[in-house]
Amino acid sequence: MIHIFEVSKLKLINNQKITVKIKVSILLLVLISTFVVSCNTSPYAESELVDLSFYNSRIVLDIRYATKNNYFQEIFYPVPRCFVRRIVALKLDSIQTELETGNLGLKIFDGYRPLSVTRKMWEILPDERYVANPQKGSRHNRGVAVDVTLVDLTGRELLMPTAFDEFTERAAHHYQDLPEDILKNRATLKNIMEKYGFKALEDEWWHYDLTNYQQYPILDIDFETIAKQTKP
Ligand SMILES: [Zn+2]
Repeated sequence: MIHIFEVSKLKLINNQKITVKIKVSILLLVLISTFVVSCNTSPYAESELVDLSFYNSRIVLDIRYATKNNYFQEIFYPVPRCFVRRIVALKLDSIQTELETGNLGLKIFDGYRPLSVTRKMWEILPDERYVANPQKGSRHNRGVAVDVTLVDLTGRELLMPTAFDEFTERAAHHYQDLPEDILKNRATLKNIMEKYGFKALEDEWWHYDLTNYQQYPILDIDFETIAKQTKP
């Protein structure tokens, strides 16, 4: 009997050891998977500047300040790329995906703009009606503003109240003396941008900021530097 008792005791101890081992293994698995998941979902800061095309290559880019086809008829950017903070890239990706269900998409005219470019624009045109005063900085300097319009599946722009950067009363959201289809297009863009946390600028139908844009500081990192640092 003593022998049987000792064997049972030994079995019990072995079972306890196995149970402890299983518990430790499960704990390790949970810790490892938590680490892997956190690495996959948030490897970098949401505030970091990223290349929008890495997040959604279907969004059409027409970066006007990389060409002479802009209000100043000057080239300000060395490359036609759209850099924005990661949180903006993620939101624009979601907006593009939702728009595609209605056979539409986004076209971006401008994203992040270095403060040095705002200074250059101010040297050419020191008028706050058209250019941000570099003392205050432009909303685009914060990396959470985009100039944007809607396109159809072929990439053709939908009709909007004015051309991009046409600083007239017609460009303002309160302007209503417009054909029905144009009012509808402007409203479609505004509705979806607001749905994802952007705020319209009253005087420019194409300009949107993150609602909490003031929380993001003004930056002066040039395009070449960001291009070197940008990670997907
Ligand atoms: Zn703008």
